Amino acid sequence: MTGSCIFCKIAAHESAAEIEYEDEDVVAFKDIYPKAPIHLLIIPRRHIESLARLDEPDAVLLGRCLLVARRLGEAYGMAERGYRVNCHCGPEGGQVVYHLHFHFLAGRRG
Ligand code: AMP
Ligand code: ZN
Repeated sequence: MTGSCIFCKIAAHESAAEIEYEDEDVVAFKDIYPKAPIHLLIIPRRHIESLARLDEPDAVLLGRCLLVARRLGEAYGMAERGYRVNCHCGPEGGQVVYHLHFHFLAGRRG
């Protein structure tokens, strides 16, 4: 847990969010400024700043995040229609919150 990190606080239930899924490693919650009809953020509970800070032992944890994307796709009935999973990394990648997260976007094309 990093004291000032909003996503750590959401994962610890110390900050409000509409949590759609959680287990011991991964949390998924609604993005407050949705850019698609379904827009969730999937985060590892453990604070990792960004893809640029990823270490080899984090590989399994990231795989779990992507399995949660699959699960959300199925739960929302979007497995066949499809969805996008994005990850912004660093200033020129458009990253604003420095706790690694995947955007799960569904319900529209493009
Ligand atoms: P980025 O770092 O570019 O992937 O963007 C961060 C994303 O987090 C944006 O889509 C924000 O709308 C979203 N966001 C920021 N703060 C919160 C929050 N407290 N609850 C839910 N979503 C958030
Ligand atoms: Zn954090």
